Parts: sequence; structure tokens; C-alpha cells
Amino acid sequence: MKLLLVEDCLDDADFLAASLRRNRTVDVELTHVGSLRDARRCLEQAAFDVVLLDLHLPDGSGMECVDVIQEAETGTPIVVLSGRDDEEFALSILNKGVQDYLAKWEGETRGILRAIRYAIERKRSEMRLNYLAQYDPLTEIPNRQYFNDQLARATSRARREGRKVALFFLDLDHFKVVNDTLGHNAGDVLLKETAQRLRQAVRAGDVLARLGGDEFAVLLEGIGGPLDAEAVARAILDVVAKPFQVEGREVSVTTSIGITLYPADHGDPDMLLKNADIAMYQAKEQGRNNFKFFTERMQAELLAYHSLEHDIREALANEEFRLVYQPKVNVVDRRLQGLEALLRWDCPRRGEVTPAEFIPVAEQSGHIVPLGQWVLHEVCRTLNRWAAAGLPLVPVSVNVSARQFQQAAFHQRIADVLQRHAIEPAMLEIELTEGLLMEDTDSAQRALQQLKATGVRVSIDDFGTGHSCLNYLRRFPIDVLKIDRSFIQEVDGGNGSAMIVRAIISLARSLQLDTVAEGVETHEQLEFLVENGCEVAQGFLFGMPMDAREIVPLLEDLRDDEPGFATARLPIADSASG
Ligand code: C2E
Ligand code: CA
Ligand code: CA
Repeated sequence: MKLLLVEDCLDDADFLAASLRRNRTVDVELTHVGSLRDARRCLEQAAFDVVLLDLHLPDGSGMECVDVIQEAETGTPIVVLSGRDDEEFALSILNKGVQDYLAKWEGETRGILRAIRYAIERKRSEMRLNYLAQYDPLTEIPNRQYFNDQLARATSRARREGRKVALFFLDLDHFKVVNDTLGHNAGDVLLKETAQRLRQAVRAGDVLARLGGDEFAVLLEGIGGPLDAEAVARAILDVVAKPFQVEGREVSVTTSIGITLYPADHGDPDMLLKNADIAMYQAKEQGRNNFKFFTERMQAELLAYHSLEHDIREALANEEFRLVYQPKVNVVDRRLQGLEALLRWDCPRRGEVTPAEFIPVAEQSGHIVPLGQWVLHEVCRTLNRWAAAGLPLVPVSVNVSARQFQQAAFHQRIADVLQRHAIEPAMLEIELTEGLLMEDTDSAQRALQQLKATGVRVSIDDFGTGHSCLNYLRRFPIDVLKIDRSFIQEVDGGNGSAMIVRAIISLARSLQLDTVAEGVETHEQLEFLVENGCEVAQGFLFGMPMDAREIVPLLEDLRDDEPGFATARLPIADSASG
């Protein structure tokens, strides 16, 4: 029997442990913690048969303790440990999720074990009753009551954690016809089968319930937006539309789905189900076997995504993309150190579309993979053109998205491109964002090692905005930290950014990494960087991203070995532009 003892008084804990050990009839495995926080952590990590809970803990007391343990939602029975002075209270909270109480001072072993056994038994039958009250006997999935409970919980969790919840309301199309022509038995079989298929279409943690009749509901927590909801909706439409075998016959039904998102739809949690219901009717009106969002805004967002996705596909085929290059400059001698390649798209249908608009859609749709591959080839072609013109070269960095980096054998793709164009690996730098590497640190580390082995340089882009774990940073074979421009642009603002930039520079130095400051626009920012030992800067102060042609004079300057190209060539006078 696994017991979790939550008790901060060591004497009491020792006493209890000793009493339990004295008994030889039951094998007791005791875990002892001294606070609610530790108790929660234990309950998250392992299953216990019983929690023995003191009511005076350093991080909470009284009913609060019970609430915290119950919030862990493990269904573990709780036995409260009471002192002489709170016996009344302990008695009063029986049934509020507490199965029993133990008077600590009595400490009679048989009594303790009996209380524990009873608690487990009581909890079991309570859970059995709960199950019966919350499940639909026909389909063996949760019922409306359970769904409403979960909805209330999910929305308050979402509010607390700033995440989104999607609610789907489903109604089978023309179910009544099946019921009337084939009979109720056939109808029941169909409902059961539908519930099973829905179960397979959603993730294990999603809540699926039968609300009654041929109505079902799904609750998806931690969803990104309408696009994620759409993917699930399509999966549901697909699984339901497959023909059913009912009493030897093949029957086809479809379903209509109404979707609301919390909190984006600005609905009261209570209104969510109603709104989803309204949206479901709209889906029916529009021809069934379909889904519809409650708000126009969500529907419009989804349409906009699909239209942009379509245009990106065209743009790839029609070669509408081009690259511009932005100088990276040594802050001390102002010499050109490198370039960053940035995508530009002049769409004949839309006009200029910024990377901030099209990169996220390219990432979600997967177009970023061929697009990124094109960027790599294009950079190599440009380098070769410059080399053929006899120009000195500087390394060019390329932004690589998660989807690209996570491809199998990404390093091999890089090596292939370099080899095909006969480019020195040292001339290429790969910029990866912090978040990408921290997502799955083990596989990131492996992939980085392979990438480094090809000889290219690797930098971490937008550094400081994500949640880097320093431990991993030390293990990652990287060369450069690029300090995010939001910090650089506020170094003179006195809001802590200056401190952060200094900290990043000194961190980089201790890890023997180079630093590049992004988005440098003013002389004050530049001065700050020089003073604090950041070697390289990039930003409008030294040059906007420009066409390959416009880079040529800058490369020519390198030949003269004459420092200060930036001041000489580029209008940096008072460019505090934004
Ligand atoms: P990023 O990698 O952080 O690129 C730097 C961005 O800052 C560029 O925006 C650049 O034009 C802008 N910038 C440079 N200096 C300054 C400055 O002094 N002030 C201000 N306010 N901005 C400055 P851009 O070109 O619009 O690109 C935006 C983002 O799109 C890039 O951010 C990058 O994440 C992504 N991106 C661009 N090209 C590619 C690409 O080829 N592949 C991938 N995966 N992403 C790309
Ligand atoms: Ca970048
Ligand atoms: Ca950046």
C-alpha cells in the first residue's frame, strides 16, 4: 500500500511512520513530505492509495489543504490528521472529499490501518457512483453533467494560464431518418459506433461527451487558434462520414459541427455551449457535413489563412520571392563582418507582403520547407556570383524555421547544397530561434552537433525572448548569440533592458560565443554596445536589408582594407528611425 504523508511536524511524522512499521500484516510504502507544494508534485508523479494530510502546513491550513490536494485530481482518498484542538473541524469536513480523520495522539496501529482501509473502500464506491452519474450508459462516454463540470474547470484553467479552449458541438445529420427506417436498435448501434470513432479522432486528454440524442460535444484545451480547431473538425467529419455496418447493412451518416473558442469569442463560459449550438445550426443550413465557427472573425481568420497559403504556393511556383541582404558590422572598426539574407515577396496580386505576414503561414502549411531550401540555393548562387566578380566575401546567415531544422537529416541537406555550389561551409551561418532549440533539447543537441560537423556556423536568433535554460546553452555547440532587437531598442529607456543586454554579453563571453546586436538604430545604442563589449551590430543605422547588387560596393570596400565603410558609404547621420 502506497501512502503519502503530508506533515511538517517531524515528531508526528516519525511517530506515525513507526506505528505503521510495527504492523506486519500490510506492506506499507510511506512517502513523507512537509508541504502542500511537495505533496502536489508527488501526486503528479506517482499514484498513491491514500494521502494522510495534516491541516497545519507551512503553505496552507484547514480546508485549504484539502482543496489543494483535490485540485491534483487524482481521485486519491484523503485521511486528515487532526490534533486535539481541531478534531471538531476534522469531523465537520468529512464528506467534503475527506474520507476519514485520524486523531494523531491516539496512534494505535490497528486503528490507523483500519481507517486507511475504510478510506480506500469509501473512495472506491464514491467514485463508482460518480462514474454512474457522469457517464452515458449507451455509448460509455461522459454525459452532459460531466461535460459541464469539465467545461467550467477548463475555462477557469484557461483564464488562469492565458490559454485557449475550443468547444465543438456536434449533431448527426439526418439521424432521425436512420432511427425511423431501421429502428431504434440500429440507431443505438450507430450512436455507439460514432462515439468510438469520435474518441479516435480527438487526443487522449480531450473531453468527449454525449449531450443527449444524437448530440455530442468535444472540449479541446490548449489549442492554438482556428486553424488547429479546423484540423480536428476535419478529422471528425472524416471519421464520421465513413460507412457504418449496422445489422448487416451499410449506413452512411454525416455530422455538422459548431465551434466556439474561449476566450477569443468573448463569450461567458456559460454561453459557450449555446454559441456552439448556434454555429452548429449555421453549419446545417450551409449544407451539413460541415463545420462553422461561432464568430465571423474566426471564420474570416481561417479564410484569410487559406487564401494566403494558396498564394504562397503560387509564389513558389512562379518564383515571386527574392532575397535582400542586411550588413552586420564590427562596432569598433566599422568593417563589414557578414550579411543576413532576408526574404521578400512582391506578390502581383497582393503587393508587398512582409515576412511577418507570410512566414508564419508558410511555417504552418509546410511551404517553409521548399521555400527555405530555395533560400539556401539562392544564397549560394549569390556568393558564387560575387566570387566570380573577384569580390572578397563575408559569411551570409540564413534564417531556418523549426519545420526545416526538424526535418530528418537537415545537416545532410545543408551539406548537399554547399557541395552542389562548391561553397566553403564557413561562408554559411544558420540562424535558429531560441524557442526551437528549447522545445526538445535532446534531439536539438544531436541535430546541432551534426549541423556543426558540416562546418557551418550556428547562431541563436532573437536571444533573450524565449526561456533558455543555461544548462542546455552550455551543451549546445553554437557560435553566436543574436541579442533580440526589443532589448537593443530600449537600452536607453531605463527599464532593465540595459541590464539584460549586459548580462547576455557577459554570458556569451563566459561561454566563448560571439554576440551580434540586432536592430541598432541610433548612435546611443551603438555607443552602449561599444562600451559593453558587444562586437557586432546589425540594424538600420548601418544599412537596411538591400539587393545583392547594392552589397557589391560594400564588398569592394573590404579589398581596400579601409575601415569605416559604414560612415563612408551609408547615411547614418541621425537615423533614429523606427
Ligand atoms: P529576424 O531574423 O529577426 O530578422 C531581422 C528583422 O529585423 C528583419 O525583418 C529586418 O528587416 C529587421 N530589422 C533589421 N534592422 C532593423 C532595425 O534597425 N530596426 C527595426 N525595427 N528592424 C530591423 P524582416 O526582413 O521583416 O524579417 C522578419 C522576420 O521574418 C525575420 O526576423 C525572420 O524571423 C523571418 N524571416 C525573414 N526571412 C526569412 C527566411 O528566409 N527564412 C525564415 N525561416 N524566416 C525568415
Ligand atoms: Ca535572423
Ligand atoms: Ca532576430
